[in-house]
Amino acid sequence: MKNSRRQFMILSAAGACTLALNGKVQAQAMVAETDPQAAALGYKANATTVDKAKYAKYAAGQECDNCALFQGKAGAAAGGCALFAGKQVAGKGWCSAYAKKA
Ligand code: SF4
Repeated sequence: MKNSRRQFMILSAAGACTLALNGKVQAQAMVAETDPQAAALGYKANATTVDKAKYAKYAAGQECDNCALFQGKAGAAAGGCALFAGKQVAGKGWCSAYAKKA
């Protein structure tokens, strides 16, 4: 009985380590422009391709990497976004929820 409990604890610890490593090694997937939420927000991985007729609020220079919701570093090629949990947006991307970083 003691042995099986000990084995369980060891296996659980090993499993937890594997999960932690997987999370670090695997890069988060990029948000696809075709993702329903991304499409609804007019997200483009390249801000210069934003439909300016549809999104008149877009102004040149607005990019994910200078948006308040961007979780990566300024100038980063990609980073998290508060609107897309578990995925990354392009640093040069844009969506209609853009809010200039203070
Ligand atoms: S909210 Fe900001 S960081 Fe997120 S996709 Fe839109 S512009 Fe990019």
